Amino acid sequence: MADGSTDTERSRVGMKQLRGTGASPGVALGPVVRVDRWLPPEGRRIGPAEITVESDRVAAAAEAAARDLEGLASDLVTKGLPAEAAIFEAQAAMARDHTLLEAARARIAGGVDAATAVRGAADDAAAQLAALDDPLIAARAADVVDVGRRIAEVLDPSAVAPQVSLEAPSIVVAADLAPSITATLPRDRLLGIALEQGSPTSHAAILARGYGIPAVVAAAGLLDAVGSAHARTIALDGTSGEVTIEPDDETRAVLERTVALARTREADEASDAAEPAVTRDGVEIRLLANIGAPGEAAHARALGAQGVGLFRTEFLFLERRTPPGEDEQATAYREVVEAFAPDPVVIRLLDVGGDKPIPFLRLPAEANPFLGVRALRIAGARPALFETQLRAAMRAAAGLPPGVVKVMAPMVADGVDADLLIRLAADARRSLATSGVAHGEVALGVMLEIPSAILTADAYFGRVAFASLGTNDLAQYTLAADRGNPQLGRYQDALHPAVLRLVGDAVSAAERAGIELSVCGELAGDAAGALALVGLGIRRLSMAASSLPAVRRVLRAATVSELERRSADALRLPDAAAVRAMFADPPAD
Ligand code: PEP
Ligand code: MG
Repeated sequence: MADGSTDTERSRVGMKQLRGTGASPGVALGPVVRVDRWLPPEGRRIGPAEITVESDRVAAAAEAAARDLEGLASDLVTKGLPAEAAIFEAQAAMARDHTLLEAARARIAGGVDAATAVRGAADDAAAQLAALDDPLIAARAADVVDVGRRIAEVLDPSAVAPQVSLEAPSIVVAADLAPSITATLPRDRLLGIALEQGSPTSHAAILARGYGIPAVVAAAGLLDAVGSAHARTIALDGTSGEVTIEPDDETRAVLERTVALARTREADEASDAAEPAVTRDGVEIRLLANIGAPGEAAHARALGAQGVGLFRTEFLFLERRTPPGEDEQATAYREVVEAFAPDPVVIRLLDVGGDKPIPFLRLPAEANPFLGVRALRIAGARPALFETQLRAAMRAAAGLPPGVVKVMAPMVADGVDADLLIRLAADARRSLATSGVAHGEVALGVMLEIPSAILTADAYFGRVAFASLGTNDLAQYTLAADRGNPQLGRYQDALHPAVLRLVGDAVSAAERAGIELSVCGELAGDAAGALALVGLGIRRLSMAASSLPAVRRVLRAATVSELERRSADALRLPDAAAVRAMFADPPAD
């Protein structure tokens, strides 16, 4: 993903290039439709006699807007987009928020009409959020403004913001986009979205990803560069974050080829997706997807994922004030399970804490968050959080054969941690049985991302059903290199021989215990990494859906016998770069 937003304006006449942040992958080229911030009509001054009436009206309008938002949310649930629905459910809660209503009432008491008051109150609240250092919270500013606008529209239906209509396939350019506007953009004519503000976690970005529309956010200087004219042409790359305004003929020709190639590649990938990843010497490697929200399941399936090897559940917990309830979680998990059954889905328990704070958990700040009270370690003090997740997963497994739904614990250090997972699951199962709630059998497994969990595997592998190597953290903890520190590149590559040795140890321990082993760290989705892992004996690889086609291709061209030879040699190499070089050439017999 791109860094920040340096304007790299090129000298070629008319053409400009900006760099924002890629927020939804894909390339788009087309005419611009600029969506400007809509300015509501001037407010009306009111006299003291109207204060009570206007205050009552604002409360009633807020409730009506909240109900409308809930309606929008349930439409999205019906369309199979629960993660997107959650955005509008959160907005319904904002509409009912007492702080917002009180701020609006204070403005009414100051002599402005209800619609103006609630818009002003929402704008103030948004400005406060936007000023916070936390990008996740700042990203909610557009949502609050949107809620104020909706309540104001109920109060004054003549002042409704215009709908955006796209007459031809176009790229929408805006400062920021309210979720309600993003959700109503005609998807069949929406080629892409480019925003001057926003972040990959803003709801416009989440919706774009859910709809599969390329998007770039935080492209500083975008509106000035585009100017006010519609129908100028821009191109955007939702992975690199690059935006090109008025591409010259030469660049345009290159971009047109890129878009055409991307279309052909997507079509090829979709037709290859049904092919199994079988090596030339007949060994089948099971390819699974890593997903972060139920909306990603369809895309992963389309690219041929044979199940989900890592469903990161953090998305349900981020950007909210209270933990998601058991029902909400069970619905989200069930949606993914239904998209894949009878193929398996591995639900990973909450992996937060330390560097990924969740405000409502009120976790203490730590000097070394990656070495602190993270993930499963939170269960010691907060078992209910994990038991609720386990109950929701067991409910999602109702009526399905054992093993379709699997639950894995992150940050397991040893058998004592594995036993904690087993105990939490037993408590969850017991409470479901006692209350007569329908549920199914879930397989329990551990993430291997701390070296000690592999070094002690023989002591506890017999008590779990499966294990999955989290090579991102495994590299971090093996090489003592913070995975987010850009100065440590050479130590962060999980293809390091030290990490590969641990992978080899995990393969042997899993074979001895007779349990299933997979890899769900980034290494599995990296062509060289996938080859090395298969050479070490791994037969299940889980990766970002977009990596599935390339990994399938390299595996189908390889032979396991050759990969085994190379992997054995790789263990004796000095560093990850040398291992990469060894796996760079296509393996031949
Ligand atoms: C890992 O550590 O390899 C992993 C898959 O988990 P995450 O990247 O979510 O920490
Ligand atoms: Mg991890």
